[in-house]
Amino acid sequence: MRCKTALFQVLNDPILRAAYDQQLALEAAQQHVFPSQTIRFDDMEEAGFTGDPGDPDMLWEYPCRCGGVYLLDDSTDITRGSVLLPCDTCSLNIEVSGF
Ligand SMILES: [Zn+2]
Repeated sequence: MRCKTALFQVLNDPILRAAYDQQLALEAAQQHVFPSQTIRFDDMEEAGFTGDPGDPDMLWEYPCRCGGVYLLDDSTDITRGSVLLPCDTCSLNIEVSGF
């Protein structure tokens, strides 16, 4: 009940309301990952194999500006659009578009 009253006060106060809205927008933005760069799958280079030796997946890599790499294996389906790949070293992401 006390919670409800506090929320009611926030929604009725224009300044508190603006701060509340801003916080919601910030949280939404943080949940959405923005790629630092968009590349084509053709830009990636072969990097060997991964997974089960009896049924290996081809591994592809693309260098990150931090010195790390973005890795993509064959099990990722990129034919239906694009995928986000995280760097193996830093917090950057790139978008790899399919064909
Ligand atoms: Zn990186």
